[in-house]
Amino acid sequence: MNSLDSICVFCGSSEGNDTNIISEAFLLGEKLARKNITLVYGAAKIGIMGHVARGVMEHKGKVIGVIPEFLKRKELIHHGLSELITTHNMHERKMKMHELSDGFITLPGGFGTLEELFEIITWSQLGLHQKPIGLLNIGGFYDHLLGLLENMVRRGFLKMENYELLLVDDDIDRLLEKMKAFKPVQVPKWLKLDRT
Ligand code: AMP
Repeated sequence: MNSLDSICVFCGSSEGNDTNIISEAFLLGEKLARKNITLVYGAAKIGIMGHVARGVMEHKGKVIGVIPEFLKRKELIHHGLSELITTHNMHERKMKMHELSDGFITLPGGFGTLEELFEIITWSQLGLHQKPIGLLNIGGFYDHLLGLLENMVRRGFLKMENYELLLVDDDIDRLLEKMKAFKPVQVPKWLKLDRT
């Protein structure tokens, strides 16, 4: 079993228009706090990001915000973060979030969210880390994306074992259980040899 002391959450900087997504985001925060899992996220108080953080803080959990200098606007930073880390740029931010986290969960979001998810899963595919990556598919939000990934497998662009790096569930507790039980796939030898 993997120990999950900290989880990085990728999600929208907008809050969307589905109250179920908003309440699930808050509930994820609440559950992280109750399970003593530190939230690592993008530091903002806006959007779905803000709801996850509020869920943790209102249940006395620990929250680490990581933000690049150019996005750091006082009015958008969540008050009451346990720690705020400022990075020089987006790349450094992602590295920092990765360093601080034992696993990753993606909630609904837009381009930024997808970019973060796919970068972290690509790092896993390349054997650069072996941390569990979860997708909380609230109300089928990501069904079409999952359909696209299945198509990539069918058409020979994505290996089934790499597709399976993405742990999917619509229930927070079940997703966390899958993340704890996650066993990394063997990375091809040639990738291991070439890595610097
Ligand atoms: P999107 O899914 O396009 O809304 O992008 C979500 C991601 O954008 C977040 O996870 C953050 O990395 C980043 N982001 C966008 N706006 C902000 C902001 N004001 N403060 C912090 N991060 C932000």
